[in-house]
Amino acid sequence: MDNYTKQKINRLHPSIQAEVITIVNECNTALKGKAKIRITQGFRTFEEQNLLYNQGRTHPGKKITNAKPGQSIHNYGFAVDICLIIEDKIASWDTAKDWDNDKIADWYECVKIFAKFGWEWGGNWKKFKDLPHFEKRGHNNWRKLIKLKQDTNGYVILKKEYYA
Ligand SMILES: [Zn+2]
Repeated sequence: MDNYTKQKINRLHPSIQAEVITIVNECNTALKGKAKIRITQGFRTFEEQNLLYNQGRTHPGKKITNAKPGQSIHNYGFAVDICLIIEDKIASWDTAKDWDNDKIADWYECVKIFAKFGWEWGGNWKKFKDLPHFEKRGHNNWRKLIKLKQDTNGYVILKKEYYA
């Protein structure tokens, strides 16, 4: 995997970092080399979320999110956004392209691997499809997460029942 992806994984919630490394490696094996998965976004602080939320509201630009600080699963490090890097050069968000010619779109091969590990794909959402987005099931309710205490690094401290 590329360094950018490694850095993003290193800032995810510590409880899921190892799993995401496994997922990324499985995706890259499944894609057979021409396309590789990259994690473009992972953990986002509340401050970073606030900047995004203000864009298109109090700041210039297009609105890009409806999530206020604390309302995005990225704010807890339990969500990632991906793209594909083609031949180590070009970033692609094409969800239909079959770069390895195995009759399954490469993006969808990744969706299936994430699903196997219990990750929900934003492409399955009815209201607002978020095609690059994946979030860890069981950890994707911000109304619950926002009530948890955070450690000094800003990660929520999961209670035992989360691991059950
Ligand atoms: Zn996302």
